[in-house]
Amino acid sequence: MQIEEAKNMVCNAGKQLLKEGLVARTWGNVSVRISNTQMVITPSGRSYNELTPNDMVLVDFYTLKHVGSIKPSSELKLHCQIYKTRPHINAVIHTHQMYASIVAAAQKDVVVLYEAHQKILGAKIIKAAPYALPNTKKITVESARAIEDSNAALMANHGVVCIGEKLENAFDVARTLEDACKLYVDSKKQVAH
Ligand SMILES: [Zn+2]
Repeated sequence: MQIEEAKNMVCNAGKQLLKEGLVARTWGNVSVRISNTQMVITPSGRSYNELTPNDMVLVDFYTLKHVGSIKPSSELKLHCQIYKTRPHINAVIHTHQMYASIVAAAQKDVVVLYEAHQKILGAKIIKAAPYALPNTKKITVESARAIEDSNAALMANHGVVCIGEKLENAFDVARTLEDACKLYVDSKKQVAH
């Protein structure tokens, strides 16, 4: 994929996340792989509404070095780790979507109840990575481990990470995870009553 095309895609995806209510303000980030060593990722600390494709940052996922003066998302390490370990994955989205975050706060794995959801999420259970501070090696390693056998993972007290062969697949995973988590939360409520 060409850099310019990737920058357009990532910029639009950032805005789409906000539009669909999967993130609030600048929280969350999106990347796409453009080669065996490079990705394009959303910048650090910018409001998604003001983003232009030129604000997207090219990063080498082996050296973590970026091109240009704009800083990449502070959570780039997790994206890099996934591209290094999952060669068929070409898009990564990190969100703070509501229902998945509720389950993530409880540090519980999600049992995916519907077969249709399992298919998109790539597993019957979506794992929750144990709590770790943002941007640390621990959260990177634990989250990458939690997503090893599926297309999504929860990050305790933080949010979720969703991956796909294409950006559109990663979005489908994020939306489906939200549905699956809502069903799971509701099923727990019924048991409690
Ligand atoms: Zn985050």
